[in-house]
Amino acid sequence: MGQQISRRAFLKGGLAAAAGAAATGIPGSEALAKPDETKQLATLLDISKCIGCGECVAACSEANADKYPNPQKPFPKMYPPRAKVSDWSDKQDVDDRLTPYNWLFIQNASVEVNGEETELTIPRRCMHCVNPPCVKLCPWGAAKQQDNGISRIDPNICLGGSKCNKVCPWDIPQRQTGVGLYLDVLPNFAGNGVMFKCDRCYKRVADGDLPACIEACPEEVQTIGPREEIIKKAHALARQINGYVYGETENGGTNTIYVSPVPFEEINQAIEKGKGKPGFPEARDTMADANNLAAAMVIAPLAGLAAAARKAYNYTKKERLQ
Ligand code: SF4
Ligand code: SF4
Ligand code: SF4
Repeated sequence: MGQQISRRAFLKGGLAAAAGAAATGIPGSEALAKPDETKQLATLLDISKCIGCGECVAACSEANADKYPNPQKPFPKMYPPRAKVSDWSDKQDVDDRLTPYNWLFIQNASVEVNGEETELTIPRRCMHCVNPPCVKLCPWGAAKQQDNGISRIDPNICLGGSKCNKVCPWDIPQRQTGVGLYLDVLPNFAGNGVMFKCDRCYKRVADGDLPACIEACPEEVQTIGPREEIIKKAHALARQINGYVYGETENGGTNTIYVSPVPFEEINQAIEKGKGKPGFPEARDTMADANNLAAAMVIAPLAGLAAAARKAYNYTKKERLQ
């Protein structure tokens, strides 16, 4: 309990609490100053420490249960029919991939470390890119990035069109049909639900608390702090274990930095990949692509249209309620 209070207090109390944390011997928190809300916060994941216990996954579910979708059934028939139904509401217990009800999962990789066959376990969730294409290319302005680097999807605006998933190098956002604005505005023509993903516990962070998965981990696999400091720590750790860094430059840079004892190409080969199961690709900078930048400029007015549609919709709804 004392340990938990010290770890929670780190973000709340800043330097003073950090000094306290150092006194309690809790690694990972003592070197970090009070986060500046205008600077991007990053997390460091030390893969060699993870024992695959799943405490972080359980904590994520518990902390975010009230944000999970509660779909209306039967689902409206879609036109065009290529807008597929994605229904995870009867599979809420699935925890071996990302779903609208599971924003964090543990991947397994059998690799050789120093000549020994080793099973690595790797927590996977949104990377919280520095310049996130899911945010910049969402046609409806539903995905947003906070100044502290957290990207999240507003379930009250998202129509579930999956653009964010298509432009994400890690296939992170996952759709649930039968929820959201599309049911009232465009039930038969667009979207088909709402996209869900890790929002890095933005409310907890705003309150000065640690994200639930970080707080729950018994091995202190994750550390959170200003990005520059996290990058320095990642390189120091990589030097110490003769290891490798992932996330610093991928997709133009992310706020989730992994350090591994083996090259990420090897991990990428060893893990099971597929829908909702991201790999560790090289991930070139999506937003540096001129075509995408042009596309972003073209679609920007749609966000304005969407806002107008929402306003009209809210007005009509208000009228109906009176
Ligand atoms: S709680 Fe920590 S040790 Fe357990 S699976 Fe999650 S990151 Fe790994
Ligand atoms: S990892 Fe994917 S969903 Fe997460 S911020 Fe980057 S582009 Fe968006
Ligand atoms: S930061 Fe929060 S939402 Fe994201 S994986 Fe961790 S517990 Fe889940």
